[in-house]
Amino acid sequence: MAYGDVQVLNGVDFEVAAGEVSCVIGPSGSGKSTFLRCVNGLEPVLGGSLRVLGEEVGHSLRGGRYQPWSPKEYAAFRKNIGMVFQRFNLFAHHSAMENVACGPVHVLGTPKDEANTRAMELLDRVGLADHAHKRPHQLSGGQQQRVAIARALAMNPALMLFDEPTSALDPELVDEVLEVMRDLAADGMTMVVVTHEIAFAREVGDRLTFFADGVVVEQGHPAELLANPANERTRAFLSSVR
Ligand code: ATP
Ligand code: MG
Repeated sequence: MAYGDVQVLNGVDFEVAAGEVSCVIGPSGSGKSTFLRCVNGLEPVLGGSLRVLGEEVGHSLRGGRYQPWSPKEYAAFRKNIGMVFQRFNLFAHHSAMENVACGPVHVLGTPKDEANTRAMELLDRVGLADHAHKRPHQLSGGQQQRVAIARALAMNPALMLFDEPTSALDPELVDEVLEVMRDLAADGMTMVVVTHEIAFAREVGDRLTFFADGVVVEQGHPAELLANPANERTRAFLSSVR
């Protein structure tokens, strides 16, 4: 993947199996966000292979040959993927419930009553049933991020992508968000999580990938990789965040 002439990702082979939690760590500017944008088809993969949920992202096998996806195929693929950002990006003038219900109503054509009922279930699941009618500015950062997770879940995604979901939060609010993510993982959700929360990666992750300068420097089982990083850069990074 490149922005103009600048090659951002170069040598990333990555596969996410259904039901797995794959965590990604790495220094600022190493390409983690760009990588997530590739996984949900927002940036083109220029070479190599990226398989998500058994599909080659950007190409389908037709008539024995891989053909590039049409915009329609990209849109259909993206509907299966939920994304949660560092900044919660909620609609400021809508209540928590409206934020969660709007995707199903406007994108999937779900009747409003049904979407609202489901939104209430999801808000309950993230511990916010009592806050459903509040607007984002009436909620804490941790609560807003939990609304954002509920909003992504409302689209019934097969895969959830998290881009540093707790790094904009005050330290005391981090756990409530990680708890919701832990819960999702235990429920079998397939997740790719870019995070600096090393303990979360160790406890919840099935796989851990270390990025630097747009390449996968190291990848493995989280506990093993964290205990015995083979690469000097991984070691240096880990000692800077622990
Ligand atoms: P951080 O930890 O700070 O979020 P990151 O690992 O997510 O960093 P990216 O945001 O993916 O890194 O950026 C990777 C590289 O691509 C950086 O060098 C960045 O400056 C560059 N980059 C990102 N977005 C663009 C863009 N829209 N146009 C040009 N260059 C970009
Ligand atoms: Mg980033």
